[in-house]
Amino acid sequence: MSAPPASSRKEVLRAFYAKVVEPLGFTFTPDTELVEFLLEQEVVLEGKHGVPFCPCQPLRGDREKDMKIVCPCIPFHRAHFDEMKRCWCGLFVHPGVTDPDSLPQLPPPVTTP
Ligand code: SF4
Repeated sequence: MSAPPASSRKEVLRAFYAKVVEPLGFTFTPDTELVEFLLEQEVVLEGKHGVPFCPCQPLRGDREKDMKIVCPCIPFHRAHFDEMKRCWCGLFVHPGVTDPDSLPQLPPPVTTP
């Protein structure tokens, strides 16, 4: 059986994320162009790695660390994202954010190996 088309996988991810991020206090960014771009990137990453890794974070080759950047990675970085009112990629923001470009982009905290 062949893989479903990327566009339908994108819609599955969109519906899944909408359900999962709301109880976490986030929603999709109002920047719809960015949403489409990032979801497409995640479909590509999922096709390559089997899971939709974060499009804006590098894989480390360390399973424990890399599983913390499977989308949506909000539970692992919630305090940091709450501070920015957005996730690193900007796919998700706090409800009520209307100008996501004005939000600060703080780098991930440096972790020791
Ligand atoms: S930073 Fe955002 S887009 Fe990237 S994995 Fe985390 S929740 Fe998903």
